[in-house]
Amino acid sequence: MQLQFLGGAGTVTGSRYLLSTDKHKILVDCGLYQGVKTLRRRNWARFPVEPASLDAVILTHAHIDHSGYLPALVKQGFRGRVYCTKATHQLSRVLLPDAGHLQEEDARYANRKKFSRHHPAEPLFTEADAWEALKYFEAMPFQIPFEPVPGLRVRYTPAGHILGSACVHVTAIEDERTVVFSGDVGRQVDLLMRPPEPIDHADILVCESTYGDRLHADEDPEATLADIVSRTAGRGGIVLIPAFAVGRAQAMLYLIHKLMGEGRIPQLPVYLNSPMAIKATEIFCHYHKEHRLTAEQCALIDDQTTYVRTVDESIDLNSKRFPCVIVSASGMASGGRVLHHLKTLLPNPRNSVVFAGFQAPGTRGDALVNGADRVKIHGEYWPVKAEVFNLDTLSAHGDYQEILDWLGQGNLAPERVYITHGEPLASDVMRKRIEERFSWEAEVPDLYETVNI
Ligand SMILES: [Zn+2]
Repeated sequence: MQLQFLGGAGTVTGSRYLLSTDKHKILVDCGLYQGVKTLRRRNWARFPVEPASLDAVILTHAHIDHSGYLPALVKQGFRGRVYCTKATHQLSRVLLPDAGHLQEEDARYANRKKFSRHHPAEPLFTEADAWEALKYFEAMPFQIPFEPVPGLRVRYTPAGHILGSACVHVTAIEDERTVVFSGDVGRQVDLLMRPPEPIDHADILVCESTYGDRLHADEDPEATLADIVSRTAGRGGIVLIPAFAVGRAQAMLYLIHKLMGEGRIPQLPVYLNSPMAIKATEIFCHYHKEHRLTAEQCALIDDQTTYVRTVDESIDLNSKRFPCVIVSASGMASGGRVLHHLKTLLPNPRNSVVFAGFQAPGTRGDALVNGADRVKIHGEYWPVKAEVFNLDTLSAHGDYQEILDWLGQGNLAPERVYITHGEPLASDVMRKRIEERFSWEAEVPDLYETVNI
């Protein structure tokens, strides 16, 4: 087999790995680049492999940086199957059309403001393209091997990162050589997800390194959040939580309701203002056997949260001035309804903004958690007077210690580990730590590098 790194090398977004045999080509993940403009521009580059020549795509999970290029791939002629777990399929039905919708909005905005170099600006793909791509999806259960193409066997094991997330084990049937893609790896202890299942065997391992050079703060997120919410409500302010629609939005809702139930924060109205996060929450509750919350705990979140669905309701919510908690997407404040809330809430020191997860360089979220005193939203600068927090400890990614511990739980002895899905420094530090702890050969591949495995 040959493995080529078509993305997720030197950055945390754009995950795409090409596996080739003599007869077949499959892609593991097909992500969109996100974050700084130089990265996003890569989404527009010619895809390095003829899409029609690919036989199948295997997804690790539904996040857009792992799946969001699929509609473009289908638009350019890909006609194979897209394999994923059942929950990933359901979540993709929410996330991909939304990504298409955002692409269309961006193109419309660029045309209105005439700042695009292309006239007229075109979306990378549309909502309709996303629905077209979804026709190629095929959901597979965890643990049970399947053959996406003759000669290759694939198996999913739980990765504990978000609902449906999986490690992908690909075995060449001819010589039984196995390459395992970690996908995004969850926490050893998480509010919602069970820990990632140890990997029992891999000849070659491709491992993520989002937090390769960092440890999550050793703070109790419940105590920190309780303190933030109580203080903010005490001064008559609003707590805004920009959250990823899938995963962190549900975690934050659960935490808020738990704290209220225990009397640790005042009883406040809680709003979820993101149609996508509302649908993701419904899917999350449907698949309650795949995570740590019970059906009753899910029902509690559902009962006690006011879902804000329409644009009018969202505008109405933005005019409210009494203490409350608003959870809204997107998690890095790169788009979505949360931007309207930020414009209203940031200039007032009574309010608090609580980020909950990795903030990619170049995003507004990154600027805000690093202390920016103003941010540009919808073409205008807004002063940052509200308190800004990053509850990084609620991240859905394990830090390097958690990933090392996880790797040590299996009977792993890979010939080589490729460290991907990290900023350059994070990946390199992770490489050193893996070599030190396990004496495994580890390497940080370059973008487009091809290796024989
Ligand atoms: Zn992810």
